[in-house]
Amino acid sequence: MVGIEEFWCDAKNELSKVIQAISYEVWIDKLEPVCFIDNKFVLSAITATAKKTIDARYLDAITEVVTKLNPTVTEVEIIIPSKKEEYLNKQTDFIQGGGLIVEKVDKKEKEENSVNPFFEKYTFETFIEGKSNNYALAAAKTVAENPGGKYNPLFIYSGVGLGKTHLLHAIGNYLYKNLPKTKVVYVNSEQMVSEFIALSINKNNEENNKFREKYRACDVLMVDDVQFLEKRERTQEAFFHIFNDLYQSNKQIILTSDRSPKELGALEDLQERLISRFAWGLTVDIQVPDTETRIAILKTKAAQEKFNLSDEVAGFIAENSTSNIREMEGLLNKIIFFSSLTNRPIDTKELAYDALQDFIDENKDVLDASDIIAAVCKYFKITTADIYSKKKTKNIVEPRMIAIYLITEMLSLTLVTIGQMFGGRDYTTVIHARDKISEEIKTDKRIKIVVADIKNMLLNR
Ligand code: ADP
Ligand code: MG
Repeated sequence: MVGIEEFWCDAKNELSKVIQAISYEVWIDKLEPVCFIDNKFVLSAITATAKKTIDARYLDAITEVVTKLNPTVTEVEIIIPSKKEEYLNKQTDFIQGGGLIVEKVDKKEKEENSVNPFFEKYTFETFIEGKSNNYALAAAKTVAENPGGKYNPLFIYSGVGLGKTHLLHAIGNYLYKNLPKTKVVYVNSEQMVSEFIALSINKNNEENNKFREKYRACDVLMVDDVQFLEKRERTQEAFFHIFNDLYQSNKQIILTSDRSPKELGALEDLQERLISRFAWGLTVDIQVPDTETRIAILKTKAAQEKFNLSDEVAGFIAENSTSNIREMEGLLNKIIFFSSLTNRPIDTKELAYDALQDFIDENKDVLDASDIIAAVCKYFKITTADIYSKKKTKNIVEPRMIAIYLITEMLSLTLVTIGQMFGGRDYTTVIHARDKISEEIKTDKRIKIVVADIKNMLLNR
């Protein structure tokens, strides 16, 4: 029995004698044998461009060599990686001239791939819709139903813990179930960066091909938290090319970030050409959900854990955690845990307070900048995106200055760090904001009350 790999290896050996070394290395060596379909031998090229070149220049030579090795093979077809699965499903047993069977390609690899890589609990069904997220949800559903359609790329942004990753997994789960042939790749941009670093240290060609194939062969590419590409020039460069390739072949790209494409522009060292591409398709944001939606989310999560959550406790949690659903879920888990530990229902506000006492105390000590910003935004009813933005309208400028003032006063961060936090502003801007507000507190009663209120909000979290 001859394996398909062995067969191709023999063929390559012959081809290396008739094709110039450099062309052989670039085009032939990178071909991957896929399967036999009757008298046809199927090979996969790494990209559509490679396929074109090989079809035009080397197909005849390959066919000739292959036919010589085994006269039953009369045809060679080059395909692109995304077609592999389709062809594998059509493969036939191949009978050699001498009656030997070339074994069918083992489907093991396929089975491995067919393990659902997405979190099962993050689906569209478990995503609670509210005013804060309905556009993002609708866009995600449209893209899942029709990847590579009109919203390309789809860019979703929001503060932390508001459901971006959940939506990406929901798209992945939907495709896995309804369009299983679609090759979906999910990657966090930090993971992408470390893959690139590993690659540049290890100049192994095979690794390199695997990497390119992984990204270029997908039908849907999701890159979570693209802001982490900042200062990663080489990764940005490579991603730029991947983006273009995928975009040109109508493959769906989905990106998320903690800020809008425009605000990404304020980051140092994030290529302008990349950012402008992010905004080519549809950009949607997710806002902090209102109390009603937060309670609905809590109820869904509790039901998933088969925990009976009373309205009172749901309300209590929703009141105590206002700007981050992940944190809110943490509180719920804590209550569930306490309830099982003490073997008694935690169904009143008071019991919940006891269970969460640690958290409430702990949290007072670890106040951080995002808490201050969230409190200011809540107070002024603006979004965190607004506060980081370059907007100069009074209703944004004042809260921004107050947030900066409170951060300088309540935390021990350097002025430069604070400036960077606010969309890469200069530290002199931070000083200006700090001094202006501390002056106004003395002269303007309204500002004095506002600042005191927000401080209270923070200290009584
Ligand atoms: P992000 O990626 O924006 O930081 P995640 O997607 O990780 O946030 O969400 C944090 C947690 O909040 C997850 O457990 C997620 O299931 C939950 N969550 C966020 N929004 C919703 C929603 N609308 N409905 C249900 N769960 C949600
Ligand atoms: Mg996330």
